[in-house]
Amino acid sequence: MAFELPDLPYSKDALAPHISAETLSFHHGKHHAAYVSKLNGLIEGSPLAKKSLEEIIRETKGDAQKAGVFNNAAQTWNHTFFWNSLHPEGGGVPTGDLATRIDADFGSYDTFREQFATQAVNLFGSGWAWLVDNGGKLEIVQTSNAGHPHPLTDGKRALLTLDVWEHAYYLDYQNRRPDFVNTFLDKLANWEFAATNLG
Ligand code: MN
Repeated sequence: MAFELPDLPYSKDALAPHISAETLSFHHGKHHAAYVSKLNGLIEGSPLAKKSLEEIIRETKGDAQKAGVFNNAAQTWNHTFFWNSLHPEGGGVPTGDLATRIDADFGSYDTFREQFATQAVNLFGSGWAWLVDNGGKLEIVQTSNAGHPHPLTDGKRALLTLDVWEHAYYLDYQNRRPDFVNTFLDKLANWEFAATNLG
């Protein structure tokens, strides 16, 4: 069965002024939709068409012959995860178990925040910044292009992600990626979602 573009978990203007309705219209309605559509076209009639999105990502990761399938499958997954990583009332300091884990593994929220911002800002070109659980230890990782931390291929479970492709911020921030990253951390990061992904 063909994959479908999931609805955003909020209205298109819910994240304004931090992320505008115009950005979400393009990013979800055009970019994310195109990944889903291209994936469906690439797997139609092949054995992969019967697999789950996670299985397709796992089976095509690192296979140069299947790079197109991997890129579109991973981007389909990553974007759905990204929409859930944002919340109109998000950002700031997390609470509960997640806060305890961040303090334990980074030393403090401020240290975590500085490291996440540095990695997201300095990622060269297009990609993603992630908070992951790497076998019980929280870490920040960068992935380029459609890169995707996968619990079964590299032991890293995604907790939260930030899309730093230019299409994620250019309409609202132009070249000012640091402003977009800071806004994500201070106003949008969905810590409740991240907490639900803790192992
Ligand atoms: Mn994107």
